[in-house]
Amino acid sequence: MDYKEFDKLGAKNTEPKSSCNLCKEAKSKVGSKAGYGAIVYKIGDIKTGWFATLSPRTGGNPKADFTIQLMPLRHLTHFSQIHSYPKLAENFGIAFSKICKAISSVLMQEEGLMASTEEKRLSMPLAAYGKCTTWKEKKEHLHIKIFPFRGNIGQPYTVDSSFERKEVFKEKGTGKEFVKMIHVRKVMIDTKRFNKLARELIMLLKD
Ligand SMILES: [Zn+2]
Repeated sequence: MDYKEFDKLGAKNTEPKSSCNLCKEAKSKVGSKAGYGAIVYKIGDIKTGWFATLSPRTGGNPKADFTIQLMPLRHLTHFSQIHSYPKLAENFGIAFSKICKAISSVLMQEEGLMASTEEKRLSMPLAAYGKCTTWKEKKEHLHIKIFPFRGNIGQPYTVDSSFERKEVFKEKGTGKEFVKMIHVRKVMIDTKRFNKLARELIMLLKD
């Protein structure tokens, strides 16, 4: 098998880029406002590190929901590059699990959600969403969104079996099949709540 093409996805092509917003944000300290959101967590150095921001907007309920975005400090554009340095993959696991723990802990406390429940409204739903490609038009600094999937942002996604089971409608004229989805509009989280959440998350992600 010829690995030459794959090798181009290696570590040497992940140098920070001056034109990249996330590479710029990666230089900020925990607690500071980055270009987008507030930095709540950092682990590792420039070769092995990851950072996380609390997003100022949510597609869910701004009074309850929030999203944390996890990104490598280096300009990685493909999941397969996470293997570039062993410690980079290790730190990803640590960062991801800590963020999931922090989000769950905040929401379970705020809303009295249960570790196991028959009732959907008392459950702690958590989703991770990220994608990558080598197609230049869509090739960007890796970012994985971690958020409670409920309400408008809890609708089944194309890879879910429940998406396949959705009611199918036919477009008049063309006969093309489609399914209905609720439109999602991102809204700002109010400043007071945003700052409180950022402080709590920083505390929880510290240890
Ligand atoms: Zn970048």
